[in-house]
Amino acid sequence: MRVPLVDLNREYQAIGRDTARAIKEVLRRGDFILGEAVQHFEEEFAKYCDAPFAVGTSCGLDALRLSLLASGVGPGDEVITAANTFIATAFAISAVGARPVLVDVDEVTFNINPAQIEPKITQATKAIIPVHLYGQPADMEPILEMARSRGLKVIEDACQAHGAKYKGKRVGFFGDAAAFSFYPAKNLGAYGDGGMVVTGSSEVAEKIRILRHYGQKAKYEHTMKGGNWRLDTLQAAVLCVKLKNLDEWNEARRKAAASYGQLLQDKAIITPLEAPYAKHIYHLYVIRLKNRDEARKQLAEKGIETGIHYPIPIHLTPAYKDLGYKPGDFPISERLADAILSLPMHPFLERKEIEYVAEIIKTVGEK
Ligand SMILES: *Cc1c(COP(=O)(O)O)cnc(C)c1O
Repeated sequence: MRVPLVDLNREYQAIGRDTARAIKEVLRRGDFILGEAVQHFEEEFAKYCDAPFAVGTSCGLDALRLSLLASGVGPGDEVITAANTFIATAFAISAVGARPVLVDVDEVTFNINPAQIEPKITQATKAIIPVHLYGQPADMEPILEMARSRGLKVIEDACQAHGAKYKGKRVGFFGDAAAFSFYPAKNLGAYGDGGMVVTGSSEVAEKIRILRHYGQKAKYEHTMKGGNWRLDTLQAAVLCVKLKNLDEWNEARRKAAASYGQLLQDKAIITPLEAPYAKHIYHLYVIRLKNRDEARKQLAEKGIETGIHYPIPIHLTPAYKDLGYKPGDFPISERLADAILSLPMHPFLERKEIEYVAEIIKTVGEK
């Protein structure tokens, strides 16, 4: 049996007819740049997040970058984030000329440890970016409290967490702004790149609308130094169709996660834990095991595709040598990087595939 990590083909089988119709409609109208579907999707996605404003962007990285720009973060500023995130979180901070300041994570949730943020705050700190890693929300309450008392901005990196809940409320409207990615393999994915900023601030939303569109509000009136960071109309049309399925797909992921959890009960394997405050939407299903590399090799031989998210923490990435961190600075992130393994996870995973994966893992996991 072959079990891929994600299977976009099955998703296409399920909704391809509807997305093709939506694409055709855009082709017929020809409004390719900031067309009708962009506005429509922005309205639908804001509603989905229970937030007042949503602004489409070119990708998740640019949604983060625009959130920082609109929050006034720039050269000389420091932004605090997790050491074990996808590189885009750090790149967005660097892109606006600020400096990423890293914090280690909680060993159970893999998310930023709020208790370790405070000692990292300096005069230069402007913002905190908690990452809702793998689809499980970061512990937002202590982070928001700390930020409020220190006058810091909070920008959620929700690129892996479309529809995840923190204390019963969907992520995206806890901080000053939240960034989402619609990279094809995300829980809500386009047929290419796309992103979104969700915010409760009309000022932030308006600034981002101007910045993403060459810094212009009216044609050729460039009031800010912006860029070309718009969401494509074609992608927005596809995303409108897919958004209708998101809750159902997230539930299917949760069901698959529950099956894995039952089948993988084994001392040698640590399965993901849903925090008491969280509704996890399992963008990734990440287990921990001692002999990860050997297990991964054997799984591949049995036709099971796995991933490592992420093999090198930000502070040990060559691109960030200049930050001056060294091995041992973030021991939990480093330990996790050596032990984590992402198993096949998508809404169309079948019970017999889950059983097959679990069976093989139990035979290769070191006792
Ligand atoms: C995917 C992702 C991003 C970036 O999204 P793109 O659309 O690929 O630019 C940022 N942060 C995290 C945590 C992500 O998973």
